[in-house]
Amino acid sequence: MKRSGVGESGLIFNEPLIFDRGHTGEQGYSLPEWEGGEEAALKALPSHLVRDEVEGLPQVSEIEVVRHFTRLSQWNFSIDSGFYPLGSCTMKYNPRMNEAGAALPEFATAHPYQGEEFSQGALRIMWELQQYLGEVSGLPAVTLQPAAGAHGEMTGMFMIRAWHGDRGRPRRTVLIPDSAHGTNPASIVFCGWDVREVKSDAEGMIDPAEVEKAMDKDVAALMLTNPNTLGLFEERVREVADIVHAKGGLVYMDGANLNAMMGITRPAEMGVDVMHFNLHKTFSTPHGGGGPGAGPVAATAELEKYLPVPRIVRKGEKFLLRERSRKSIGRVKAFFGNFGVLLRAWTYIRSVGPEGLREVSETAVLNANYIRKKLHHAYDVPYDRICMHECVFSDRRQRERVSTLDIVKRLIDYGIHPPTIYFPLIVKGAIMVEPTETESRQTLDRFVEAMLAIDEEAREQPDQLREAPVRPKVGRLNEAKAARQPDLRWYPPGPEKSG
Ligand SMILES: *Cc1c(COP(=O)(O)O)cnc(C)c1O
Repeated sequence: MKRSGVGESGLIFNEPLIFDRGHTGEQGYSLPEWEGGEEAALKALPSHLVRDEVEGLPQVSEIEVVRHFTRLSQWNFSIDSGFYPLGSCTMKYNPRMNEAGAALPEFATAHPYQGEEFSQGALRIMWELQQYLGEVSGLPAVTLQPAAGAHGEMTGMFMIRAWHGDRGRPRRTVLIPDSAHGTNPASIVFCGWDVREVKSDAEGMIDPAEVEKAMDKDVAALMLTNPNTLGLFEERVREVADIVHAKGGLVYMDGANLNAMMGITRPAEMGVDVMHFNLHKTFSTPHGGGGPGAGPVAATAELEKYLPVPRIVRKGEKFLLRERSRKSIGRVKAFFGNFGVLLRAWTYIRSVGPEGLREVSETAVLNANYIRKKLHHAYDVPYDRICMHECVFSDRRQRERVSTLDIVKRLIDYGIHPPTIYFPLIVKGAIMVEPTETESRQTLDRFVEAMLAIDEEAREQPDQLREAPVRPKVGRLNEAKAARQPDLRWYPPGPEKSG
């Protein structure tokens, strides 16, 4: 393989644990001498503030602590360090302007208990963000509370349950296509409901005939993703929504893939009743590493009364918190949600503007199709037609010699984060690439070049490819071991305990 690239190999030093780095007697602080020495100092301090001696704490100087953690931070891969085409995750660049806005002291030091009259600016921003999301989706009733996409799904399901409840219909089954993201069935089960899977057709699309068959009076809703997880636009979504509505159900859209359609089409026009946004995907707030995120929910005017409280409402020039609402499903998050994330999304929308949002989606779609076209002669594309913001390849042509895992692990050696793999489940050996709109043509070309070189390597030196990656400090790790056998010992390890 070619060894090239700038700033991609990380540091060349291995980093021992800080416990192994310290030396007895080194310390990271210095205090003035106390008359009478340590003993007198200890007596002068209130006893509850004096800690017992802790065995085994590392003894390190300040600069060693700083270097240790700085080095460790540089071992991470992030969107700031390289191309991150992780399908379904929309790893786009997070503009620094968002950070500057969120760091303004007036926002950063605001307190949720400081009361309406002292929070007008923050409330206004949230109210405006609700309006913008309502505009983008065509669904006017918005809550910003949910902390993530999956949390939005749950919130939406609770609203749908309340709507059916008002009609005296305790329906408890939700239809989902077999290409759905894992959080979809999980959220449904979380609400105590049942999942009924609907098979996609030969084109990878939701099949109206299958929905018709599955739709009965137990079905509360259909939950679908559009564009779907194959990166394909569900062209018959309106027809499917009509079938669901005709039999008394509602349509929930998982809006995680909204980056493909902003300003081009709106979920409301497809017959969607409730959806969530992933602000940490589409609206450029940082994500990965477990949050915080934001998964606002938008719904039709008919469902507005079920939204969580408090609602942020406008009365003339004033912004108010409506704490009570008879039909509300209640609170789903402390205070107003993750305000810092909301602020970043507001900044993003204001700085990009309505025309800009459309351009974002158009470029995201263009970039994905560029990659599909440049690679489809080397890699199998199971549903090979114009895709939306991401495209799904498979390892079908390489499978005899190497696997999807071997292919994408080699990308690490090229300084590129591997795409999402083995998802969606309906594609065997899937490789799901989402370049996003923020990548340049040069970056896309570099990715294409790397993928073509890997295909060549798969043919000529498959044994070597199975050893990838070789450039990072650690090679191929056991993907599941850390989760299945977590080792959370206090270091240094004490005497082995049995059991
Ligand atoms: C990311 C994603 C989700 C879940 O969103 P979280 O914010 O991670 O909870 C759901 N569905 C799809 C299609 C996604 O890509």
